[in-house]
Amino acid sequence: MTGTKFDLENFPKGTSLLRNSLLNKGTAFTEEERDALGLMGLLPPRVTSQETQLVRVLGNIRRKESDLEKYIFLTALQDRNEALFTRLLLENLDEMLPIVYTPTVGKACLEYGHIFRRPRGLFLSAKHRGKINEILKQNWPNRDVRAIVVTDGERILGLGDLGVDGMGIPIGKLSLYTACGGIHPGHCLPVILDVGTNNEALLKDPLYIGMQHRRLTGEKYDELVHEFVMACHEVFAGPLIQFEDFGNRNAFRLLKRYKDKVCSFNDDIQGTAAVALGGLYAALRITKQKLEDQKILFLGAGEAGTGIGELIVSAMVEQGLPEIEARKRCWFVDSKGLIVQDRKNLSEHKIPFAQDHPFLPDFLSAVEALEPTAIIGASGQPGAFTKAILEAMARIHEQPIVFALSNPTSMSECTAEEAYTHTQGRCIFAGGSPFTPVAIHGRIHVPGQGNNVYIFPGIGLGAISCRIKHVIDEMFLAAAKTLAARVTETDLAKGSIYPPLTGIREVSLDIATAISQIAYARGLAEEPEPSDIKAFLKSKMYDPRYEVYV
Ligand code: NAD
Repeated sequence: MTGTKFDLENFPKGTSLLRNSLLNKGTAFTEEERDALGLMGLLPPRVTSQETQLVRVLGNIRRKESDLEKYIFLTALQDRNEALFTRLLLENLDEMLPIVYTPTVGKACLEYGHIFRRPRGLFLSAKHRGKINEILKQNWPNRDVRAIVVTDGERILGLGDLGVDGMGIPIGKLSLYTACGGIHPGHCLPVILDVGTNNEALLKDPLYIGMQHRRLTGEKYDELVHEFVMACHEVFAGPLIQFEDFGNRNAFRLLKRYKDKVCSFNDDIQGTAAVALGGLYAALRITKQKLEDQKILFLGAGEAGTGIGELIVSAMVEQGLPEIEARKRCWFVDSKGLIVQDRKNLSEHKIPFAQDHPFLPDFLSAVEALEPTAIIGASGQPGAFTKAILEAMARIHEQPIVFALSNPTSMSECTAEEAYTHTQGRCIFAGGSPFTPVAIHGRIHVPGQGNNVYIFPGIGLGAISCRIKHVIDEMFLAAAKTLAARVTETDLAKGSIYPPLTGIREVSLDIATAISQIAYARGLAEEPEPSDIKAFLKSKMYDPRYEVYV
């Protein structure tokens, strides 16, 4: 890529340039650059192209024997050369996504303290109370931060409390903001809020990298989060803050507290909702039914489950169904059984879905009694969609919809193979993690990946480029419809209700365009409205091909 003028006088030189992952090009620095930037003698003599480097890194990663080794290799590559890392990801998404994201990132977080090499992002803890503003201003090297993904590590994927070892998640998500949404890596900031951990094994592990105390709660917790959110808002002039993998006690509260205050959203609640609704819209093109005619039974009534439920209710209401009727179409089973009005002490997020119905103790009896058209798993309970449940769904409906969204793969309610086998290949299936195609009754089914990677990069691109003040619920509804519209008849014919990942940048661009249109219509965008929003957003997307500095 050419075009940008670089201020060579103030440009890093020599070894500091080679150690700057945002600028480093390794063996691809040209003779002119080597000459002008103090690199002569510091690199192997032969100048190679980025394409040649890609061949080398791809060969290297394929030689690694385990996925965890591949993850470590990719982390090291990202730390030395962001452009090459991003291009490798983008051009080999099907192969690389399962490494930097679910499922391998889950394995990496489980071992994070043991495989730790270099810090990336910010590690903020209670020790930093009263100083966060200063840390952001003085210690983080870059003021142009626009996308922040933050976790407190309490509910990492379906793996539970991993404390600071959950840092792999914000890092992985932001890699996808860059690869899939075209957000410049220099604008991204992963953050872990170390509020302690209640994970006994980690507290005893000498290699654990976080504070060795139990989780902060109450005011101490809230004050730390608040100081962090307000400091980011001030120092980085209203960046997008994505709350990620917080335990559900805090996730719902924080979303409510900050969604109208700063530019923020919760990916587990809202991003997941959009990807699931998008999948449902596409599935209904196969069954030729309407959303309002569905009866959806969820396993798991946490962030993901009730987030999806709320967005489905909004979508039905938009179709003209009264809200009370829409809620009667969304049913939930949690760890105690069917959520009904007679149940005592229901959490706040479950109450709107408590049905006027006798209590049922388990999911199978709920399937038999309610005859849902779709079952959606967001419970983190592996194997919970048993043979009996899947067979019951196949008996009740010609084309039952089965989404097993729990991550990583080891937590999935059922595998793709189980879903197709026990429904004689008739179900419409999506998993949260990737599953390989399944051949059954002479037909190959390509399972879609119902994962919020289809949503958050586009939300990020729109929010950052148009400087959106608040991310509102209407935007997730638009994101779901936009995603479903990208699913072709060819995808549907293969049984996949999501578009291929190879087209993810186009999906993100369309979602960014849709949410930006809403932002302009609602007076929520600070960037002056461009005449062609899509073209404007496209021009903002990061291109990982090397720039020419000299
Ligand atoms: P959460 O802790 O907020 O909710 C989990 C829910 O599961 C709770 O309601 C709990 O009562 C219920 N549950 C637990 N054990 C159960 C059992 N034996 N039977 C029935 N219900 C049970 O967590 P969450 O944020 O909603 O995440 C849940 C799962 O969804 C995780 O595995 C996560 O990885 C996955 N998820 C996937 C995506 C995606 O993009 N595919 C996005 C977000 C979350």
